[in-house]
Amino acid sequence: MSGSVAESEARPKSVAVVGAGIVGVSAALFLQRDGHAVTLIDRQGPASGTSFGNAGGVVSAACAPLGMPGVLRRVPGMLMDPMGPLVLRWRYLPKIAPWLVRLLWASRPSRVEEIADAKAALSGGAEAAWRSLVEQAGVSELLRPVGWLEVYETDAGLASSDAERDLMARRGLPFEVLNADELRQLEPALAPIFKHGFFMASCSFVANPGRAVERLAEDFVARGGTLVTAEVTGFGLSERPYRVVAASGDAIACDAIVLAAGAWSRGLARQLGASVPLDTERGYHLMLPPAEPGLRRPVVHGEQDFVLCPMEPGTRLTCQSELAGLDAPPDFRRARALMAAAKRMLPSLELEEKSAWLGFRPSMPDSLPVLGPVAGLSDVYLGFGHGHYGLTQGPVTGRILADLVAGRDPGIDLAPYRAGR
Ligand SMILES: Cc1cc2nc3c(=O)[nH]c(=O)nc-3n(C[C@H](O)[C@H](O)[C@H](O)COP(=O)(O)OP(=O)(O)OC[C@H]3O[C@@H](n4cnc5c(N)ncnc54)[C@H](O)[C@@H]3O)c2cc1C
Repeated sequence: MSGSVAESEARPKSVAVVGAGIVGVSAALFLQRDGHAVTLIDRQGPASGTSFGNAGGVVSAACAPLGMPGVLRRVPGMLMDPMGPLVLRWRYLPKIAPWLVRLLWASRPSRVEEIADAKAALSGGAEAAWRSLVEQAGVSELLRPVGWLEVYETDAGLASSDAERDLMARRGLPFEVLNADELRQLEPALAPIFKHGFFMASCSFVANPGRAVERLAEDFVARGGTLVTAEVTGFGLSERPYRVVAASGDAIACDAIVLAAGAWSRGLARQLGASVPLDTERGYHLMLPPAEPGLRRPVVHGEQDFVLCPMEPGTRLTCQSELAGLDAPPDFRRARALMAAAKRMLPSLELEEKSAWLGFRPSMPDSLPVLGPVAGLSDVYLGFGHGHYGLTQGPVTGRILADLVAGRDPGIDLAPYRAGR
């Protein structure tokens, strides 16, 4: 007997995955487990994009979007203050205006509830998917179950996260509010200036996101996967097999395509027939020497909106969401100005800048990724747009994409992540 739909869907395929950040590498690994012949394509190599330099948080308990009710009140400040945590460069305003309108529309209370449900549903599988990949690659030590901590110097600071905790509490997502003594026990190296903590103990920390993605990619290759360095410029979709076309003119023939090119996905998605309002929230990091005594986990300064992370190679200060597109030069002024606040927060910190980095969060205005099939094309899938939570949700997104390619039920309603929502 042959030719049943279920059988043909389950047959191993040749699959091309575009983008080797955490999403693409995870998709490649889960697809490989199903026996597919997977080609992973990146223009620079694994972890060369945003997955390299983030804060390392697998913040699976968080469910609040960027656009919370009241975000409209922050827009004038965004335009006026180039040193703020959320910055909009004037020159980029005409381009980002439609995205901002969508962000404001998504911040109405009823929509925020839907978004929080969808974020929680996706992040629910985050820890298990991460654990399964790092165990397979033999780098379990990189995923540390140490939680995610936000600290506040003032009552008003803590109150600014009330709405976020309310969303979490109503979804049964675990957190604790800590007093100054409890904070000191949890993070003895912090200066005694913090009155409150907001602690999500169930979350994890990837202590070197760049190395983690590189090691996962090495595991993919060691298990027979093909890694290609090439810039994808287009697709041949008029006949099967499909073709993924590179800038060199070379083409990779395949039965299925997964697009996971992070913040650079919009133009490629359009070529696949999917129009998505993807833009980027740029973010920065500075690498400083390891602190001694140091932090045990990433700690967010709640009032000043930056994170100190005890990474393998040293202390990483991450900050800012800057709306300025993919091409504008970096502006490290805020990151550098925050060093004094970082020293106040962690007195053992040495303020010697080792390196500075600009990254591009792939951001949808409703803070939900684009995840699922392209309408009208069989065996073509999208997985990008995870914004502030791509490191968290990358592996579970990869697992879901593999389920879709295999024709399996991914166990989650994908309607909230449709390209045309
Ligand atoms: C400062 C900062 C802190 C952050 N902190 C956290 C955090 O603590 N927790 C969290 O969950 N998330 C965090 N994030 C967000 C997270 O880093 C991103 O959402 C995530 O890395 C996106 O992964 P990705 O695989 O979609 O994209 P990327 O990692 O950017 O990968 C996309 C890949 O596609 C490749 N590519 C692009 N175009 C092409 C093309 N045409 N042809 C071939 N290849 C192409 C690129 O070279 C790149 O390697 C943070 C982000 C920033 C900036």
